[in-house]
Amino acid sequence: MVSALIAPSKTDSTASAAALLAWYDRHRRTLPWRAAPGETPDPYRVWLSEIILQQTTVAAVRPYYERFLARFPTVEALAQAPQEAVMQAWAGLGYYSRARNLHACARMVVALHGGRFPADEKALLALPGIGAYTAGAIAAIAFNKVAVAVDGNVERVITRLHAVEEPLPGAKPLVRELALAMVPQDRPGDFAQALMDLGATICTPKKPACVLCPLSSPCRARAEGTAETFPRKEAKTAGRLRRGAAFVALRTDGHVLLRTRPPKGLLGGMAEVPVSEWRHDYEIREALRDAPLPGVWRRKPGMVRHVFTHFPLELAVFTASFAVDTEAPAGGRWVPRHSLAGEALPNVMRKVLEKALES
Ligand code: SF4
Repeated sequence: MVSALIAPSKTDSTASAAALLAWYDRHRRTLPWRAAPGETPDPYRVWLSEIILQQTTVAAVRPYYERFLARFPTVEALAQAPQEAVMQAWAGLGYYSRARNLHACARMVVALHGGRFPADEKALLALPGIGAYTAGAIAAIAFNKVAVAVDGNVERVITRLHAVEEPLPGAKPLVRELALAMVPQDRPGDFAQALMDLGATICTPKKPACVLCPLSSPCRARAEGTAETFPRKEAKTAGRLRRGAAFVALRTDGHVLLRTRPPKGLLGGMAEVPVSEWRHDYEIREALRDAPLPGVWRRKPGMVRHVFTHFPLELAVFTASFAVDTEAPAGGRWVPRHSLAGEALPNVMRKVLEKALES
């Protein structure tokens, strides 16, 4: 239940929702996956955009979304595509388990639902890679069901609007309830998108534009002058730094040695140059024991740094040159440099190759 201390009255919620929708009708963002006013949204596009958008920005996602849609224009096309093609189209977005789930979800929608996304939040939640946020977004935006999609933007708006003192993530159920209490019966889809737009363009983490905000009059944090201090957050502990070595073997005809990571686990199924284990106590001085081929390995100055969700990583990069007739070690393959762009290389590997190939 919403705490009695911050529970808004039904009239307040209705007035706030109406003000927000009026603002949305004037200022809605034009996005490639968003249906124009009066147009029926395509659930496949809504789902695809929401999965690609997780943990990243609209600007970064736009080209990926457009490329994805051109390559896989329907859920059936995506379901039939080989996993490699999906991973390749996803390369660079990070969070690769999401790409695997995306593919599995498309297959399940085709196999169990005849290629039509279910409209119900519960049925959506049963699909791979669809959590509470995405289920709410699809139900509301694609099917106009009374549902909420609470992401970081929406959490910010709601915690400020009601000055929610409880820190996140503990406050998540409360935020969800507060948002749900505002959803108007007649326009749930627009309301969900309006909250997203407000969080992305007006109620920003730093310096929110409260004077332009349709919720400025009921907003408690604005009244108290504390907007930027919300949402409250529990102190978080960063993962421990891991280290390792990456080996870029170059053949004299311009081929680079690559291999494919095991299908399960971190960066599963993605391409990589041979690497050592990544451990907090990895000894870079002894890295050459992990080299994939005997050769004259030279270390590049500096380290490649990358931050995964659960830990930061530092990689020492080694390079060595090999004759054209050098055989690839078990599990490896020689790839021409000009074909590297077509490989499913995650960002960390792109950084490694950039360092190795820099003159
Ligand atoms: S008034 Fe300011 S703090 Fe409150 S919701 Fe609007 S932009 Fe955010």
